[in-house]
Amino acid sequence: MILLTDLEKIEDMYPELSFWGIEVNHPAYHGSIFGKEVYINTLQDSLDWLVTALHEISHYENDYGHFNNLRLRGTLEAEGWAVRESKVRMKAILGKKYDFYKVN
Ligand SMILES: [Zn+2]
Repeated sequence: MILLTDLEKIEDMYPELSFWGIEVNHPAYHGSIFGKEVYINTLQDSLDWLVTALHEISHYENDYGHFNNLRLRGTLEAEGWAVRESKVRMKAILGKKYDFYKVN
């Protein structure tokens, strides 16, 4: 499957990170990163896995502190940045194949 190959491509770019698929039955949950462990909700569609992987990688490379507390202003700014960054990286790494996919 093409999408799985693309996810492997992303994983290969970050050998220091471990990627795990987990099933979380909640429509708003896409994934998380704890240290160097990236968790991706496999109950989302496979395109979402790619965006989530890149989103969590953005946190890994750029964020500081504890980002599970959404009440913190810094967390909200980091989230917005990671959302935008994941879109940019998707295009940079995977080309125009997913241009149809609009990240909010
Ligand atoms: Zn995030």
